[in-house]
Amino acid sequence: MRRFAYMVPKSLDEAVSMYVSRGERARYIAGGTDILLKIKEKKIFPDYLISLKHILCPDRPLFNPENGELYIGAFVTHRRIETSKTVQVRYPILHDAVKNIGSVQIRNVATIGGNLVNAVPSADGAVPLIALDARVNIHGPKGERSMDLLRFFLGPGQCDLETGEILTEIIVPPLLPRTGSAYLKFGRREAMELPLLGVGVVLSLREDLRTCVKARIALGVAAPTPMRAIEAEAFLAGKPINEMTLEEAGKIAARESKVRDSIRGVAWYRREMVGVLVKRMGQKALERIQETESRR
Ligand SMILES: Cc1cc2nc3c(=O)[nH]c(=O)nc-3n(C[C@H](O)[C@H](O)[C@H](O)COP(=O)(O)OP(=O)(O)OC[C@H]3O[C@@H](n4cnc5c(N)ncnc54)[C@H](O)[C@@H]3O)c2cc1C
Repeated sequence: MRRFAYMVPKSLDEAVSMYVSRGERARYIAGGTDILLKIKEKKIFPDYLISLKHILCPDRPLFNPENGELYIGAFVTHRRIETSKTVQVRYPILHDAVKNIGSVQIRNVATIGGNLVNAVPSADGAVPLIALDARVNIHGPKGERSMDLLRFFLGPGQCDLETGEILTEIIVPPLLPRTGSAYLKFGRREAMELPLLGVGVVLSLREDLRTCVKARIALGVAAPTPMRAIEAEAFLAGKPINEMTLEEAGKIAARESKVRDSIRGVAWYRREMVGVLVKRMGQKALERIQETESRR
């Protein structure tokens, strides 16, 4: 493997200044599960790897009960998210997604920030966070900025980071009351394989536990970037959630998807499965709301 210098900044500003002074010859590294493969496969040739792992920041998701927001540092590993009780209870869609990323060994080192910055259409971290309306904070040579996660993805392998910028934090806004959520990574196996599709649904219901107040449907591997099925979401808003409406939402989402043929699956099958899985994840989200409410 090509030799590189490994640099260990202790703060965000130090990391940015190391990067800026070395320009294109530098790359950030977090868990290294994506970037080291690219170096081994001779896809990139950095002379400097600037580690983000030694920058002091919270090492687990933090829920703020005062404002209802969830904060996840970008350098938090998938395993920390998976084992967070808050995530398991309040954000099952995120738990569904991270628990099947790679293997425990991968999840112990791979970070959520690396997953988002890598920006592959199959990134399991992206779909649930988009369905939760997450925003991301970015620190760079020009200071701080913040944006919707959905807008962060520009194309396969491309995200909205300028030279030297670091993704620092993911913020999930407060959930509405009576919200349930679910995610499925669909493929021949759930782990250690690139999926055919990733489907996430978040539903919030009125007090009658039937009528939809808000729906979010996010899809991975259904377009060049993770996407929302906005027309299907709008269809569900204000309607009763049942088999018929979820089936119709699935059909609309399938029409909205921009699936393609690939070696892992043909487009028509993928489109068909978007419909099936949106309905299935909608039903699971509904069941989760009913379970939670029945325990109150
Ligand atoms: C065997 C195996 C199985 C896998 N299975 C899955 C899977 O099931 N689902 C899935 O989604 N992924 C999977 N992956 C991919 C990978 O593990 C994840 O994408 C992982 O989350 C990447 O995080 P990392 O910290 O290792 O990133 P790194 O490899 O350290 O970095 C990835 C890229 O992001 C940049 N970067 C990292 N963090 C930041 C930051 N905070 N700010 C700016 N730039 C940054 C780096 O410069 C690099 O370009 C798998 C990988 C392997 C090797």
